[in-house]
Amino acid sequence: MRWALIALCIAVDATAFAQTPPAGGHVTGDADFADAPVPRQREQADRRAARNLKILQRIGALPPASELAQVPVNDLQWPLRPVPGFDQFDYHGTKYFVDHDPRYPGFVQDYTCGTRTYDLASGYNHAGTDYYLWPFAWLMMDQGVVQVVAAAPGTIIEKDDGNFDRQCAFDGTSAANIVYVRQDDGLTAIYMHLRKGSLTTLPVGARVAAGDYLGLVGSSGQSTGPHLHFELRDANGAVVDPRHGECNAGPDRWAVFQPYEDPHIDTLSTHSAEPDQIACGVVNGANVDDAANYKSVFAPGDTLWVFASWRDQRNGEVTNFSILRPDGSIFEQWDFDLASQNLPSPFYSGTAFDWQYALPANAPAGEWQFKAVFEGQTYVRTFEVSVIDAASAAHARSQIGTNATRCRPASGQALPGCSP
Ligand SMILES: [Zn+2]
Repeated sequence: MRWALIALCIAVDATAFAQTPPAGGHVTGDADFADAPVPRQREQADRRAARNLKILQRIGALPPASELAQVPVNDLQWPLRPVPGFDQFDYHGTKYFVDHDPRYPGFVQDYTCGTRTYDLASGYNHAGTDYYLWPFAWLMMDQGVVQVVAAAPGTIIEKDDGNFDRQCAFDGTSAANIVYVRQDDGLTAIYMHLRKGSLTTLPVGARVAAGDYLGLVGSSGQSTGPHLHFELRDANGAVVDPRHGECNAGPDRWAVFQPYEDPHIDTLSTHSAEPDQIACGVVNGANVDDAANYKSVFAPGDTLWVFASWRDQRNGEVTNFSILRPDGSIFEQWDFDLASQNLPSPFYSGTAFDWQYALPANAPAGEWQFKAVFEGQTYVRTFEVSVIDAASAAHARSQIGTNATRCRPASGQALPGCSP
């Protein structure tokens, strides 16, 4: 037994690699992806929603209350969905939860009695949960790659579109693009900060199923970055936190349980130059986006930037990275621990770091792998090294089509999504 333990220790030790400091990085700070409704705008929207609800009830356009009682509480589906073709592992971080401490300012308590929430001197206690786009939030918002979808079946009782969506500040005037859904469970779901012009064409009074499109993630209203503020209210207008915990006696309402900390790698990618994550999508009045500098086809001798983004990363959670040649041999291998960055907090809801390597002149052509192992999960992103120049290789690939094999089955029948 003793020998077995020693052998195990050696085996574990053998998987630890030297830490290579990142060339650069970015973590989500307190002020990033924060929000607050403008009281006047929100009161007006609430009033319109209440009025529409009354009208819809009067004309019998909502399910009767006797049916509502039958709806289970754990019926909420995930309110975000990437568009078809989105090829990263994930696309979001979770920033702020509901503040259960009615005092303000500076008295905060999330559902676990932790502090991942906020309040303001104005008396606002954060009333929803914020899911932000990560790691290139403004680029992802402008590309429209993440949709907001209904979390539960219900009826649209209010919507407001056309409001500016790159404010980046709490200026006291910016109205948010917003959708209210009176759910069949009797709660009202409020989807806030949607992208300008992206709201569903369904009118007030229309029915939606769970998963139906409501709009795109945006940053309209008082919002410092693209995110969805998802809020639930009961029939009396009281805030409902869909997460159960020591500081929220209410039931967990998610169909799939969402942990308080959910450490994952969101993205792995390769780049021609260091990616630049921007704080605000406007500079000097002009719209700007994150400079991702994506590149997937390299030539021997090129500079290779590799980039990883995480959600809910904590000091001590080690990521093991490797870059593998086409034959599976190791080109580079290193470990990364957030603790190495000596940051003010041991935990961040969103983190991103990059490393720079020079591909040698004799780098073998073929499909390489950028691989990460984090919290027991393996993530792989492939890239190509081509002996012909990168532009020609990309052109050749586009002519062949990456789905060429899948799209030409032996039966000769075209598969869905394939040209005949
Ligand atoms: Zn919020």
